[in-house]
Amino acid sequence: MTGTSIVEAAPAKLNLYLHVTGRRADGYHELDSLVAFAEFGDSIALTPAAARVALRGADLPPAGPRLAIAGPFGPALMGENPANNLVMRAAHALAVRLGREADVMIALTKALPVASGIGGGSADAAACLRALARLWGVPPDDPALFAVAAGLGADVPVCVAGRSCYFGGIGDVLDEAPDLPETHAVLVNPNVPVPTPAVFKAMAAARAESGAAFSAPARFTRKPADAADLAALLLDRTNDLTAPALMVAPVIADVLAALERSAGCLLPRLSGSGATCFGLYATAAAAEAAAKTIAAASPGWWVKPTRLRPTPPDSPALPRGI
Ligand code: ATP
Repeated sequence: MTGTSIVEAAPAKLNLYLHVTGRRADGYHELDSLVAFAEFGDSIALTPAAARVALRGADLPPAGPRLAIAGPFGPALMGENPANNLVMRAAHALAVRLGREADVMIALTKALPVASGIGGGSADAAACLRALARLWGVPPDDPALFAVAAGLGADVPVCVAGRSCYFGGIGDVLDEAPDLPETHAVLVNPNVPVPTPAVFKAMAAARAESGAAFSAPARFTRKPADAADLAALLLDRTNDLTAPALMVAPVIADVLAALERSAGCLLPRLSGSGATCFGLYATAAAAEAAAKTIAAASPGWWVKPTRLRPTPPDSPALPRGI
C-alpha cells in the first residue's frame, strides 16, 4: 500500500512454450504451456472511497468502480468503453461474487502493448482482483478469486497466481513447475496488434487442411541448472501458434530473426498468439546490449529488456480445480 492506495503489479506473461493439445466439443482449444512472468508490466493503484472522500471532499460520482488510464499504451484503450475494460469487469465480478460494493478509483498504468500475446489485459484484471482482495481482507488464494478470474478469460487465473507454473486445459488447470533459474529476457513487439481469435482461426484452417493430429512433447520436471539449461529444455518445446501467427502478422519472422541474431540470445520465441516475441539471455548485460542493438535497427518496434520473475518462497499454493 502506498499512502492511501493499494498498488499491484500486472507483469507481462510469457509462454516459454505453448502447445495446443486438443479441441473441445465447444470449440475451445486445450493448451499446455509453461508460463513465466517478467519483472516488467502494467500496474494498478486502487484508492478506496473513504480515502477519496478524505482527499477530495464529498463531491464524488456515485459508488462503483471508476477507471483512469495512463501510461505509454493507455491511448490504445482510450477509444473503448471503460465498462468493457477487463479491470472494470474484474472489479464488478468480484464485488458481485463476494456481495461487496467496489466503491474504488482504479488507476491503470498501461506499459504493455495491447493485443500482443503477453496477457496485458489479463494481468490488469488479475492485479485488480488481488488489490480488491487486499482491500477486503480476502486471502490471495481464495477460490473466489480464481473462479471470478476464470470467468474473465483463459489467462486471468494464471495471472492471479502471478508466478511461473504449468497451464493446462483452457487455463483452468494450473500445476506446479520446477523453479526457474535466474534468466533475463528481451521483449520485442513490432507494434502490430494481433487479435488472438484471428490466430486460432488461422490455426484451425491449416489443421483442417493438413488433417494433422494434436501431439506435444511432455512437460519437464527437473529444475533447470541455469538459463542455458532452461533454453535447452525449451528447444523442442515450441509455440504451436507461431505458424498461424506468422500468417496473420508476417513481420513476426523479422522479430524472431532479430532476436536470434542478437549476441547471447539463448532462445527466441513467440509469446501467446503474438506478436510479442522474447529472447532469453544469461545475464542482464547481455539482455540490455541485445535490446539496444534491436531497438537501434528497428526504431518503430517496442523493445524491453527485463528478467523472469523468480517464484517468491512464500507464494500461496496454486488452486486445485478452478
Ligand atoms: P493474451 O496473451 O492473454 O491473449 P493479449 O496480450 O494478446 O492477451 P491484451 O493486451 O490482453 O491481449 O488485449 C486483448 C483485448 O482486450 C484488447 O484488444 C482490448 O480491446 C481488450 N482489453 C480490455 N481491457 C484491457 C486492458 N486492461 N488492457 C489491454 N487490453 C484490454
